[in-house]
Amino acid sequence: MVSLEVMDKIAPGGVYLCQVNENVSCGACCGLYNITDLSREKLHRMLSERSAAFLKIAREIDAIIEFGENTLAAENETRPYPEFYHCPYIGFIGNNGKRVGCLLHPAAEGNNSVDYRGLSYYGSMTCNIYFCPSYTVLSDNFKRVIRTASQDWYSYGLIITENALINAFLSETEKIIQRKPDEKDVRDNPDFADIIRDFIGLKPSWPFRPVSDTPANYFFNDKLYDKKDADYTKIRSASFTSLYNTIFKELGSSFQADKDIRKAENMIEFLLKRLKKYNKETIV
Ligand code: SF4
Ligand code: SF4
Repeated sequence: MVSLEVMDKIAPGGVYLCQVNENVSCGACCGLYNITDLSREKLHRMLSERSAAFLKIAREIDAIIEFGENTLAAENETRPYPEFYHCPYIGFIGNNGKRVGCLLHPAAEGNNSVDYRGLSYYGSMTCNIYFCPSYTVLSDNFKRVIRTASQDWYSYGLIITENALINAFLSETEKIIQRKPDEKDVRDNPDFADIIRDFIGLKPSWPFRPVSDTPANYFFNDKLYDKKDADYTKIRSASFTSLYNTIFKELGSSFQADKDIRKAENMIEFLLKRLKKYNKETIV
């Protein structure tokens, strides 16, 4: 794959986020997470099966189009976001297929450098030039922190489009360590990296997300699926707002009892407390 240094030079905002390394990549804008059962196991099985099947088909227009139609029909999914297209050509790519990517890309196995993305719903041009809001909304160092700490495609793709959530958590981090966190903190300090990974892990596992909600993120600017503030009114006074309200909102939270709010706050505070040793005043 092309090195990150090269890709950073051409990415909007100077930090390339889509294909990070052999294990870490994102397919969120291809609608990867727009499926009902978003478990890692289900997604892995779905992508493995379609990637293996795609390898077997002829690289001919009719065969490729038929593959896409049959894949969508066979998977017969109810989409959490019906307006958000799920592309049947997102699959596993790279050495031993350990990261997600486009099966129609010229570099994908079997394509012999031919770009077949023109056969997709969005077309080659859009697939090639689309960059999600995280590219321009997040600061350089926040993007690098998440990119460097991430270890697998599943959790990376779920978090990297969550720019408000990343901003909220890493801004708190910044306050605690009294400087901008950057990729060097992640590289040089295994504990720091673990804290960021634990934060990333909250996205798929957040226990206060209503069961009817999805951990997927609708990140387009048309406001079709704006996230809702956590509602505390049944539990606490009307004026109450948690210090971590933005984090709760972006993770998707519904609290049923006072102890839920306390537990959620403790979960965030636990992560933030572990960061204190990286405060420049306390480093000896
Ligand atoms: S959602 Fe953003 S980071 Fe993910 S593949 Fe699309 S443009 Fe890249
Ligand atoms: S064809 Fe476009 S939308 Fe489909 S997987 Fe490839 S890049 Fe994503």
